[in-house]
Amino acid sequence: MPSFRVPRGTRDLLPDEAARFARFAEVARGLTDRYGYRPIETPIFEQAAVFERGIGEVTDVVEKELFRIAPRTEESEAWALRPEPTAGIVRAYVQHGMQTWPQPVRLATIGPMFRYDRPQAGRYRQFWQFDVEAIGDPGPAVDAEIIELGLRFYAEVGIKGVEVLVNSIGDPACRPAYLATLVAFYQGHVAELPPTERDRLERNPLRLLDSKDPAMAALNAMAPRTVDHLCEACAAHFDSLRRHLDALGVPYRIEPGLVRGLDYYTRTAIEFYVAGREGQQQALGGGGRYDGLVELLGGRPTPGIGFGLGLDRVALVLDEQSVAEPAGHDAPDAVVVSADPSDTVSRLRIATELRAAGLRARADLGHRKLGRQLEAASRDGAHFAVILGDELGEGQVGLRDLEAGTQRLVPVADLARELKRGASQHKHG
Ligand code: AMP
Repeated sequence: MPSFRVPRGTRDLLPDEAARFARFAEVARGLTDRYGYRPIETPIFEQAAVFERGIGEVTDVVEKELFRIAPRTEESEAWALRPEPTAGIVRAYVQHGMQTWPQPVRLATIGPMFRYDRPQAGRYRQFWQFDVEAIGDPGPAVDAEIIELGLRFYAEVGIKGVEVLVNSIGDPACRPAYLATLVAFYQGHVAELPPTERDRLERNPLRLLDSKDPAMAALNAMAPRTVDHLCEACAAHFDSLRRHLDALGVPYRIEPGLVRGLDYYTRTAIEFYVAGREGQQQALGGGGRYDGLVELLGGRPTPGIGFGLGLDRVALVLDEQSVAEPAGHDAPDAVVVSADPSDTVSRLRIATELRAAGLRARADLGHRKLGRQLEAASRDGAHFAVILGDELGEGQVGLRDLEAGTQRLVPVADLARELKRGASQHKHG
């Protein structure tokens, strides 16, 4: 017999964990609803070119980690699973003419992302993100809005001590001169550069700044900083972002090493961490402004900003911080059992009526004796057992309070009302 396993780098979310993710999604939806970010769903796969352009060919995500789907015929399009949601959402923005909608278009989504990365702690090949995008607003007020939204998500989900790092990486007006300064700096230290970083220096020098190679730390501490080389417009944008964050009482830290290494990423870059855990590749979430992206995917020049928060890492941090989370599974209000072990028809019918009335009801659908059915109902933590016996012919059933140990006869017609009364007394008591 073959023994099948979940694919490497993925995992099953069993009911307790899946219920937890459902709770994250509820918190996220509650927030986006209050902040006016509307839901959007795009396919989990797109033409690979959407990602190659929308994320950039000179990134790890596209060069090494893109989950490509093997073409089925020679003429097939090249598809890939989405490694992040922004490119697909911007593709949808352009395709559906959302630039004619009132701007900015505020959008949010939650779903699985795929990266063919080497699996390790907190790094999966399929992982979940809560993502928000505000497209069509140059900021910086909206930048502050989403940063605050991100922090509030962590707070509401129960994580303590999340810190946001911010930086500005300039725009096409000031970045070329900055890059020239940066490249000259690294060239002056080329002997100290590890080979991979030397290669990057030619192709994407900004990325050296966020190198995780320990050999780069000392050098990067001396490297010229983007924030010291901003043009007037970018400097004003960054100052204003800071004023907005201050006004909201959002604590943040400026991190000069925080970059998004592609031309269409502009100005604001953000990353969320549990304070004190920055160096460990354990970002809880990240994002930034992408004022060049809509145009790159075929739309009119349109500014935008967004972030993606990794829900798998939220789960890990909640475990580490031993946060008491609400149980994802409530016991049923009632379990329907009967004296006649074979009468599953009546049990299922009564349970169905109770569910239609909004109660959490389960029917015992086995053929065991009444005593066994009642034991199972207690084990389930049910508050009541509805016992079907001979009185059912006269429209009456037994209602047993499993906690109090009392029992009385109740007309079937009153059963839902009685149970609701019992359930609400239970909750308040
Ligand atoms: P990024 O687009 O790389 O900035 O990712 C945004 C967030 O998604 C990160 O901060 C992580 O929380 C999460 N994330 C990214 N890659 C993975 C992965 N392979 N496994 C789990 N979470 C991830």
